[in-house]
Parts: sequence; structure tokens; C-alpha cells
Amino acid sequence: MHGYIDRIERTPRGGYEVIDFKTGSSKSSGITKKNLPENIQLNLYALAIREMYGNLPEKATLLYLKDNNPVVYEPTEASVRAFTESMEQMIGRILAGEFPAQPGYRQCEWCPYGDLCGEREAEGE
Ligand code: SF4
Repeated sequence: MHGYIDRIERTPRGGYEVIDFKTGSSKSSGITKKNLPENIQLNLYALAIREMYGNLPEKATLLYLKDNNPVVYEPTEASVRAFTESMEQMIGRILAGEFPAQPGYRQCEWCPYGDLCGEREAEGE
């Protein structure tokens, strides 16, 4: 897996903060304190920082520029282990061909695979 990280900063304690800039607003992101530890992007950034520098970052942050509001995840060994186990299970299901469509008007409306999957949900269904 490879990708790009927007910004990495040193913290006053000598650790790292990995930051991803978002153009939208934090209020419309759907991210809550409860689901933050399950966030795929922030956990992948945390794992990348550990691989590059040997330790998890102190913070993995989504910085929403529209309302200038940082959403901060403080990863721990336990939280990234739970994420890794969850991802391994998900990848296993995909490799086994178990990924049923989860139709819904909002995601189906602009989905480029709608004509192929046969599960597309139209408005009002
Ligand atoms: S059209 Fe099919 S593949 Fe696309 S979001 Fe809907 S259910 Fe998923």
C-alpha cells in the first residue's frame, strides 16, 4: 500500500502529529469521537508513521479547513491492533468473494458501477 501524507509535524514532546487537510467541514464529515478509532485513513497514517519512525504518532489529525476544526485521533497500540485485526478480516472476506452490495440512495446515486451490480437503489425505494 502506498500514498501521500499531507503533513507531518514534530510535537513539543518529540513525537509526531500526522495531518490530513480536508476541504469540507467537520460537522458534515460523519466522524464522531465514538467512530474515530475505526477511521481507516487515520489508522493507516498511524501505521505508516510507526513504520517510518518506529513509534505511533501522538496524534493523527483531520483538519477541516472550512470550519478550521481539527478532529484528533490519539492512536494506541491497542486501537491500531483492533483496527489491523478488523482490516485483516475485511480483506479476508473480500478475497473470499464475500462483499455483498449495500445499496442506498445516497451512495448509489453517483456510483459508477450501478449498471453492473444490479442492486442500485433509486430514489424513493
Ligand atoms: S450501485 Fe451497487 S455498487 Fe454502487 S453503491 Fe449502489 S449497491 Fe453499491
